[in-house]
Amino acid sequence: MNIAVVGTGYVGLVTGSCFSEFGNHVVCVDNDAGKIEKLLRNEMPIYEPGLDALVERNVKAGRLAFTTDLRGAVENALVVFIAVGTPQGNDGRADLSFVREVAREVAENLNAYKVVVTKSTVPAGTGTTVRAIIEKHRKAPHAFSVASNPEFLREGSAIEDFLRPNRVVIGCEDETAAAIMKDLYRPLYLIETPVVITNVVTAEVIKYAANAFLATKISFINEIADLCEKVGADVHDVARGMGLDQRIGRKFLHPGPGYGGSCFPKDTRAILELGRDHDVPLKIVAAVIEVNSGRIATSLDKIVKALGGSPKGKTVALLGLTFKPNTDDLRESPAMAILDGMVEAGAKVRAYDPIAMPIASQSPREGVRYCGDEYEAASGADALVVATEWNQFRALDADRLRSVMKAPVIVDLRNVYEPETMRAKGFAYSCVGRS
Ligand code: NAD
Repeated sequence: MNIAVVGTGYVGLVTGSCFSEFGNHVVCVDNDAGKIEKLLRNEMPIYEPGLDALVERNVKAGRLAFTTDLRGAVENALVVFIAVGTPQGNDGRADLSFVREVAREVAENLNAYKVVVTKSTVPAGTGTTVRAIIEKHRKAPHAFSVASNPEFLREGSAIEDFLRPNRVVIGCEDETAAAIMKDLYRPLYLIETPVVITNVVTAEVIKYAANAFLATKISFINEIADLCEKVGADVHDVARGMGLDQRIGRKFLHPGPGYGGSCFPKDTRAILELGRDHDVPLKIVAAVIEVNSGRIATSLDKIVKALGGSPKGKTVALLGLTFKPNTDDLRESPAMAILDGMVEAGAKVRAYDPIAMPIASQSPREGVRYCGDEYEAASGADALVVATEWNQFRALDADRLRSVMKAPVIVDLRNVYEPETMRAKGFAYSCVGRS
């Protein structure tokens, strides 16, 4: 099958590469010429484990190509995926301008029947908007179908998530489109992936509801972590004791500095606004957002306390800048908010991240020094803060760390270390939800 994927970011690039791995012919389109040039040189514009090999293999096999020419890509495709960004607008709603723009361009280049699929996360009703735009701007009355196929991949394990998803959600408005979409995902039937076939608006709601629910689990366990600290309980045992109940599940019950990244913050806000627009106050989502926005202050308080009450003139080593490990994505990263908060409070920050240093150092900040490794970051520091749980931070040489630091103080916002062990190694150690 010939496919065009418009938007070659974290989702579009992985989607396009994986569909080509299924044996389809895929053209990935982006209007960022620099990104396409990089891809044509076989350089990945993002960090995602395994992506370079997947792209190289499929480009060599002649199944995957990159272009800025939307027209050519759309004309040759039976299925056109829209995978552009839907960032948070000033009013909290999803900004659909990129989606609208692409829908219009697809319409102008419609030369035969096509299925136009939103892969981007979009609010309920966007399918109807896409249909209206295409009807208005198509040059000839070619038939088309609109579908919704939300994406659930996680940065850092995106390829595995795409190739072995928990489920595939397909929202269609007619049988033809449903048959084509099912055919596209046929390779996943072999591994018995459940496929939810529904209508377009329901598929759109599924994506926001899923993200809002996952965000709820995170905010919930963060509040429980605060309670655990006060009463002397261990939040990890609480999470395990809760999560082993299959009705609850163990995932997303890990306390920390709050959720971040390019999805949960904007998607929770967008569904909240969607509810307001339809006179349905989503009180749980509102509370989830409120709890999450308080996590940075809670984390900063912990650091200030560890520094003896005043961060002014102190040096903090910050390990991890991305919102989660195994990605280079700094969007809405709690670590970056903590970095800014410490600088604002008058501390100097020595930061290190295994992957995101080149991106972070593109925007130099006063009071921040970007370092070459963990020990350089820790050198002369009054406290070391673990803000992202990169695996390599788990195996640091504690003696070496203590010897380079000004004071042996660790604030572990991701609970990567065992409190007993770190204390035995001579650190004043604080963490989240474990006394
Ligand atoms: P991104 O910012 O990484 O990529 C978007 C790409 O679209 C960019 O390369 C941009 O240049 C391109 N683009 C914008 N306008 C264009 C146009 N008119 N023509 C061609 N290209 C255009 O975004 P992303 O993280 O891949 O997210 C895309 C969508 O997928 C969003 O709606 C997001 O909410 C959703 N999503 C993201 C994730 C994730 O983990 N990143 C997971 C699931 C769903």
